[in-house]
Amino acid sequence: MPITDVFASNVFDEAKMKEYLAKDTFQEMEKTIREGKPLNPKIAEAVAHGMKEWALSKGATHFTHWFQPLTGVTAEKHDSFLNPSKDHSISLEFSGKELVKGEPDASSFPSGGLRATFEARGYTAWDPTSFVFIKNGVLCIPTAFYSYTGHALDKKTPLLRSMDAINTQALRILRLFGHEDVKMVRTTVGPEQEYFLVDIEDYKQRKDLLYTGRTLFGAPCPKGQELEDHYFGTIKSRVQAFMQELNSELWKLGVYAKTEHNEVAPAQFELAPVFSTTNIATDHNQLTMELIQRIAKHHGMVALLHEKPFDYINGSGKHNNWSLSTDTGMNLLEPGETPYDNAQFLLFLSAVIKAVDEHQDLLRLSVATAGNDHRLGANEAPPAIISMFLGDELTEVLKAIETDQPYGQKKQERMRVGIDILPKIKKDATDRNRTSPFAFTGNKFEFRMPGSNSSIAGCNIMLNTAVADVLEGFADTLEKADNFEDALHTLIQETIKDHKRIIFNGNGYDDSWIGEAEARGLLNLPTTPDALPYSIKPENVELFERQHVLNKEEVYSRYEINMEEYTKVVLIEARTMVGMARKDILPAVSKYTQSLADTLALKKQTGVSATYEKANLDEISSYLDKAYVALQDLEGKVKTLEGTEDFEKAANYVRDAILPAMGALRKPCDKLETLVSAKVWPFPTYGKLLFGII
Ligand code: ADP
Ligand code: MG
Repeated sequence: MPITDVFASNVFDEAKMKEYLAKDTFQEMEKTIREGKPLNPKIAEAVAHGMKEWALSKGATHFTHWFQPLTGVTAEKHDSFLNPSKDHSISLEFSGKELVKGEPDASSFPSGGLRATFEARGYTAWDPTSFVFIKNGVLCIPTAFYSYTGHALDKKTPLLRSMDAINTQALRILRLFGHEDVKMVRTTVGPEQEYFLVDIEDYKQRKDLLYTGRTLFGAPCPKGQELEDHYFGTIKSRVQAFMQELNSELWKLGVYAKTEHNEVAPAQFELAPVFSTTNIATDHNQLTMELIQRIAKHHGMVALLHEKPFDYINGSGKHNNWSLSTDTGMNLLEPGETPYDNAQFLLFLSAVIKAVDEHQDLLRLSVATAGNDHRLGANEAPPAIISMFLGDELTEVLKAIETDQPYGQKKQERMRVGIDILPKIKKDATDRNRTSPFAFTGNKFEFRMPGSNSSIAGCNIMLNTAVADVLEGFADTLEKADNFEDALHTLIQETIKDHKRIIFNGNGYDDSWIGEAEARGLLNLPTTPDALPYSIKPENVELFERQHVLNKEEVYSRYEINMEEYTKVVLIEARTMVGMARKDILPAVSKYTQSLADTLALKKQTGVSATYEKANLDEISSYLDKAYVALQDLEGKVKTLEGTEDFEKAANYVRDAILPAMGALRKPCDKLETLVSAKVWPFPTYGKLLFGII
């Protein structure tokens, strides 16, 4: 089937609405979507009916309110359309009420104390701007999830609120530039998704992959990514078949899967969609992750979405390409052709610069997870310090504005915003700085810190809120100004002066950057428990409340949930390590030493030289002892952690005691892997995992 027929065939999009809804219902529905308003209950019944007819025609039997709780995965509870009738027959029903609002039992989702146990109810409400779709025979209704008291229990609600906030403030700015026709400003996102593929048989033999998604042991194999021969290389046929099925399934769901290629590390891949409005991009990315994992299994493989599945080679990220665009088709981060367009661009650019500088903490903590901690700061991903890359040209322009100096050819004149025309800013990919966490790439920003595993809702909530708040301040100033152009020039100039420290075009992987960043006063928050407490700083709580994105209780609950999740994740890893060491590695090595000792004794008895056996036995035994000591130490620390009630103390203990103890156990075990016979090692090695798909 041609792509055009497949695309969105499982989505109740506008074309299907037109077909299945009465004309006035369709028009009302279209308006709802365009204006991002909640669905008018009066038409809900008619919409639900049309939707059900379509779903039944596609063979669907169930429906679900599909939502994104604070656990990082999506949640669904299926209800069938089936309804018993009085005469013992059945009818297939789906009411407007069922479409608009759901009542899943919320008690098993984390709420960080927001939901008292006596009030376990949670509600879900359809976000009509995100289309309903069919997945595995189930009609999925994308919803927001909130408590009885109205508190957000999910990632979607604050994301939608942050989009509203930025819309309101950006519109005020656009009015000042005379854009009366613009009705809506939306943030757009294109998330590039990285992942690894390993053979399912190898995967099953690794308890660490099974329980934690990453390897907790493993010596480096002779070949890593140094030849970079995998990157953009030919895609192996098994992987190709997987990608074909994946693309086709994603297209059916209306996901614009566009680019696929091998990544730098062996067995690593990337999928990039065409960008869309942030809430839709977020839903689609969740679907993408789900489908990558499901479809890999059809091809005898397992997809690892973990941020750092293997030591010694790159981890996986999710580059969040972000911009602002209007319903009239203007990209607000596009420099434009005329001085006036340039001025507007420079204002939005300054807003992002200021937002990123003032809210480094929020951006950093929005990507803080136990898994991503292994990636950020390693020589592959951006460091844990937030800075911005603008490229030399744009940086020069800003400098000229800041210092009232001439720019480029016009040596006599000063650079005036709104009068001088900007030079063409290159979009050339080769020009880009891959080491920067937050890079301007011609008409959008690319935030490169998010981990491959996480929902992009988190970082976009922060980005939208921070930029909305800055735009609000800008609009306040400019609306009061007597002379708009003077005020605009001064505002941009002041903003550059105050926030230029965040601009860094150099090499973010260079060790000297850490020192320089510190001298500039930039935040360096290497781990999750370093970063998360910034979320509850009074000025941040005020910011979220001011922009109506999260209230104080919601901020606190998220803080608690995220800290607890960090602890839980590492605790599971630590227990897994203990189990693998005690049950697999140590017994296997001990048994191996027995055979060495037997041979040694025999050789000694016979009177022949046994240098190899003796030296080998000595070395292996000494590492075995070291491993045993480290194992006991980790076991003791796990006990202490299990007895720690306070969630902040627990997270800090994980960082300061558990993770180092895990590292200390891994070291001698990895060494042992290199010393014993390949036959006795109890699970597949890095070489097998990374080069196993042929
Ligand atoms: P890269 O070299 O990093 O792969 P691309 O130009 O191919 O860069 O774009 C990467 C991602 O950025 C794609 O998902 C693309 O859809 C997205 N993107 C492009 N323009 C925008 C925009 N205006 N807003 C948000 N994302 C965008
Ligand atoms: Mg990219």
